[in-house]
Amino acid sequence: MSNTVIKASLAQIKEMQGHYKAFLQGSVPNGGVFVAKPGGCTITAYKSGKVLFQGPGAEAEANRWGGGLPANTSKPAAAKPKSSGKFAPPPNISQLSVIGSDEVGTGDYFGPMTVVSAYVDKKQIPLLKELGVKDSKNMNDAQISELAKQLLPLIPYSLLILHNEKYNQLQESGMTQGKLKAVLHNQAIHNLLEKMAPQRPEAILIDQFAQPEIYFAHVSKQKNIIRDSVYFSTKAESVHLAVAAASILARYSFVKEFEKLSQKAGMTLPKGAGSKVDEAAAKLIKRDGESVLRQLTKLHFANTEKAKKLAGR
Ligand code: MG
Repeated sequence: MSNTVIKASLAQIKEMQGHYKAFLQGSVPNGGVFVAKPGGCTITAYKSGKVLFQGPGAEAEANRWGGGLPANTSKPAAAKPKSSGKFAPPPNISQLSVIGSDEVGTGDYFGPMTVVSAYVDKKQIPLLKELGVKDSKNMNDAQISELAKQLLPLIPYSLLILHNEKYNQLQESGMTQGKLKAVLHNQAIHNLLEKMAPQRPEAILIDQFAQPEIYFAHVSKQKNIIRDSVYFSTKAESVHLAVAAASILARYSFVKEFEKLSQKAGMTLPKGAGSKVDEAAAKLIKRDGESVLRQLTKLHFANTEKAKKLAGR
């Protein structure tokens, strides 16, 4: 059994106590502040500033709080991520082995939603940096494709594609897009954890699209709910490379699916949800009838009505 001791300020201990709120134990030893069992280890914090982590997950858990770093070398307030709360990633997340999760296609009228969870071991971080993994929003499709092909054999990942026919069905059954996203992220992460087992990430980081409480409400009826070590952050591509990698793979898959869809439609479909999209959809309606949209588009977008008007329907 491994033991790790870290020194922490009282403010940090209070923060930890909040973080482990759901795992606090009833009895605390003499001189203790709290005992928590988050799974994988037992954490005992003392008024002296000593925090003891015991169990197989001790080191990983202690790493969230800076591992064996001497106490009070930095102000706890400065180390705290801006998106505070118990779902904010630990301050040292960029150095951990992390599953990152991101989605693409939610704002595109044509084309599917793609969700990717990708695992980046901390040992791979320098290599990924070297390859140029960064925020995919700053890359064009050709760059994404090239980088994705390099990444695919390097990192474990799980990809889910929600085609529009199914999307429309689920949306019409009452699922909001937010709920669809949450369910897909949860599923992709679950699939990846299965794929990686017995290896475990030190943290799971989701590019935040909803408040964490809402996310968990969305997935509350799912069979496998992944909660342990799950964190949320907006702009998470810049928080950990695993999210940047997930985003690149999701974009790559989206672009490939989009090309297939253009072939199927017999015309180059535009991305996004602007006026070019309305015009393309109107063309399709005139050529094939309204029913063609069900397979190709997210029907509940305002583009549907605009396109029908343009097509004179
Ligand atoms: Mg995102």
